[in-house]
Amino acid sequence: MRRFLVAGNWKMHGSSEMTADLISGVARRAFDAARLSEQKELSYDILVCPPAPYLGQAANHSESLPIAVGAQNVSQHESGAFTGEVSLAMLSEIGCEYVLLGHSERRELFGESDTLIAEKFAACVANSSASIVPVLCIGETLEDRQSGDTEAVVEAQLDAVINKVGIAAFDNAVIAYEPVWAIGTGETASPEQAQEVHAFIRAKLNGLDSAIADKIRIVYGGSVKPSNAGELFAQKDIDGGLIGGASLDVDSFSGICEATQKLIENT
Ligand code: PEP
Repeated sequence: MRRFLVAGNWKMHGSSEMTADLISGVARRAFDAARLSEQKELSYDILVCPPAPYLGQAANHSESLPIAVGAQNVSQHESGAFTGEVSLAMLSEIGCEYVLLGHSERRELFGESDTLIAEKFAACVANSSASIVPVLCIGETLEDRQSGDTEAVVEAQLDAVINKVGIAAFDNAVIAYEPVWAIGTGETASPEQAQEVHAFIRAKLNGLDSAIADKIRIVYGGSVKPSNAGELFAQKDIDGGLIGGASLDVDSFSGICEATQKLIENT
């Protein structure tokens, strides 16, 4: 059985104070809920992805807590004259365990292409000493969906990476399906809509490597809140969430963690 992942993407929000308060607050609430559960321990993973300046602080703060830290972006290069960029080795040295790749805001606002995202993924795979798990974000725009191109778009985004790194590289990766029309809009894909695309992604991977398809976590992102997390994550092929807005507040992020805990208890 796959372990749920509840991940927060803070985007360009936060401060040093918020980093400390949010990590402490979320860990406390998650521990409390787990202690009251049958399992008596946290049986899902929590990840926070703060802005780069707070990554080291977040990693130090969460060292003895069950919260992993991830970056929102990374360079495809190892080192060199790349002003403003951050390498995988640097992220690893300060305690990062994950990195988001190809978030729709990186694609749309910063012109990241499928080719560049595949290069970043390849860098994660090549740099085994850094051992940072790539979280590959894919998803269609509203226009794509309305023209019936959801599966074609998602498949092309996946193929760009698979063709570069090979399916075996997905052995230690996460996929985040994030319909662009649901990100930061308050509009969420229905559980059925999300499940349909998650199942499509898993079936596609299954055609290449059934063990990887079975093992890989495919999380959903797009206006996840405490009120809809349980129903979304209960879908067969949804293994948690990538959460933007609701990850910035202890109550709402903890509400999503608690919904996950409840779901595990009831299954
Ligand atoms: C995101 O930024 O990845 C995201 C899903 O944002 P939100 O939850 O705010 O829609």
